[in-house]
Amino acid sequence: MLSNDPSIGHKIDKAKHYAEQPDRVSLKVIEADIHGDNGEHHVSFTYASGWQCPECTFFKLHGTCVHILTLQKVFNAMLPENQRFPLFDAETRKTSTRQN
Ligand SMILES: [Zn+2]
Repeated sequence: MLSNDPSIGHKIDKAKHYAEQPDRVSLKVIEADIHGDNGEHHVSFTYASGWQCPECTFFKLHGTCVHILTLQKVFNAMLPENQRFPLFDAETRKTSTRQN
């Protein structure tokens, strides 16, 4: 079993290191239910369709909504650059400690 393998400690340390650098992760698809104050909203993201929040009136009018913005905030660095919300992207760049 993997948890008994002494090499797992090194893998865990490396995973912690990677997790501190979320731009190492490139999300390709997101499916999420957002538990809003006024109900449930199903949000999806794919390269083909971009962001979708089909039951949301605000999304239909504006092409974005609080539910999409929430996921853009949570996953900012893991999203393709053209699918990020610019304000959140700027905040992430300011606080990023990654050295290149
Ligand atoms: Zn929405």
